[in-house]
Amino acid sequence: EEPLPSLFSKSVEMYPDHIAITFFNQTLTYRELDNQIKNVARSLFQMGVSRSDKVALMLPNCPQYVISYYATLYCGATIVQLNPMYKAAELLHVLNDSEAEVLIVHDKLLPVVEKIQKQTPLTAIITASFENGSKFDDFCKQSNLPLPDVHIPVDDIAVLQYTGGTTGRSKGAMLTHYNLVANTLQAYATSQSRTMLGKERVLTISPLFHVYGMTSCMNLTFYIGGNLILVPNFDVEQTARIIEQTKPTIFPGVPTMYIALVNYCKDHPFDLSSIRTCTSGSAPLPMEVIQAFNETTGSSVAEGYGLSEASPVTHRNPISGLQKPGSIGIPIPNTRAKIVDIASGEEDLPIGEVGEMVVQGPQIMKGYWKQPEETDKVLRDGWLYTGDLAKMDEDGFFYIVGRKKELIIASGYNIYPIEIEDVIYSHPNVLEVAVIGIPDKYRGETVKAYVVRKDSQDLTETELIQFCRDNLASFKVPRLVEFVEDLPKTAVGKILKRALKEQLDTNNA
Ligand code: ATP
Repeated sequence: EEPLPSLFSKSVEMYPDHIAITFFNQTLTYRELDNQIKNVARSLFQMGVSRSDKVALMLPNCPQYVISYYATLYCGATIVQLNPMYKAAELLHVLNDSEAEVLIVHDKLLPVVEKIQKQTPLTAIITASFENGSKFDDFCKQSNLPLPDVHIPVDDIAVLQYTGGTTGRSKGAMLTHYNLVANTLQAYATSQSRTMLGKERVLTISPLFHVYGMTSCMNLTFYIGGNLILVPNFDVEQTARIIEQTKPTIFPGVPTMYIALVNYCKDHPFDLSSIRTCTSGSAPLPMEVIQAFNETTGSSVAEGYGLSEASPVTHRNPISGLQKPGSIGIPIPNTRAKIVDIASGEEDLPIGEVGEMVVQGPQIMKGYWKQPEETDKVLRDGWLYTGDLAKMDEDGFFYIVGRKKELIIASGYNIYPIEIEDVIYSHPNVLEVAVIGIPDKYRGETVKAYVVRKDSQDLTETELIQFCRDNLASFKVPRLVEFVEDLPKTAVGKILKRALKEQLDTNNA
């Protein structure tokens, strides 16, 4: 029943001289970080930032992000998460929708802000830079200004987390202090037996402006008194080098990162053996990847599941104990989940049947910001409707079979892209794959696979289709295969199927 910054404050008391942040050659201890956060909070408070105000952050993973995040919360204000890759139109939408008045932004991103600034409610812009001398640096300096003195009810909105937009227009999920504290403690509970307080080093490539990096990397690390190793972007060579140098013990990532690292390290022998635990989320984790990553690093990879609307984690494979590859695991503590009929959304379905997964727990958002109708669609009778299709087995493990919106219906058959992707991933010459449904005159929809081959590997469309025939019922076999150099991805590294569909529409237009 305490606001989110209290988790961080406890670690400052316990481990003042431990390293809290590593960013390339720069480090900050808990005490140093706490001082800078408080200084920035003083400056923001002086500017008038207080309860119910909104501060938007547009920063890659870097110390300034972390400082701004906690400083804003200390003032009792709400953080509006902005993706640094937003183009003008997306930025305009989120700034106007959220009504943010203050923006903290990396100086390299200023041009896109300036394009739209006049059409937004912004009244103050604070620039931060990786070099010295920015306005943000002045904020970090010691000052005599008073510390914010605000009571923060735990039901206040801590973060407006705009949904990834993988499937549609971005909505602001209202995550309260209570939601975020709950999810941090829940995430900790699932890994408690393997976590060494005050000692873990957490590789943080997952972007902090996304809910997964925010909770599973940043908030959890600060709760356990760990060292957050910040990496601003995913580049496979740089990542391998950083792992060798900084020796992280935990690496919460996404499948595309693990795939890229395994593939790269086949020819480039970097030492990745410090990593003990990976928690993979955000997208389906192919079974081959769990095995290959374990062979390369010795680390386990436990798949979990979550969504912005749930702060995000709701499911996870236990880190020790029974794990089921291919499953997202079981609901985390204090979380309930069940499978309901896709059409009615009401009837509970028996074990093994595919329906929509609904979840319940203290981490579920208050609703979508200023969108009561959209909220009513997903929050019903105390359950969050996830929009994901899943089934549950007799041991209570859940399996995602696809998104409601990505379900392919061909000649009346329901086809789940994940099942086909899993088969194609198991082909030794394939690096990445995305399967989508495309319009078809006779079948309604038909299956198309976009495939990235491994370096210098030959693989023809006929060979791959034959491989699918050998491993899948014929109605699921892709009718079309397109080989591509790479696949479009979201900032988190999730394959952006919407972009593949849009490309298709443009080509057909
Ligand atoms: P939007 O909701 O705006 O379309 P998004 O779906 O990318 O964007 P996020 O909240 O970032 O929004 O992602 C949550 C979604 O990610 C889940 O609903 C689910 O479809 C997918 N997901 C997360 N973990 C897994 C997993 N382990 N396996 C399969 N899918 C997953």
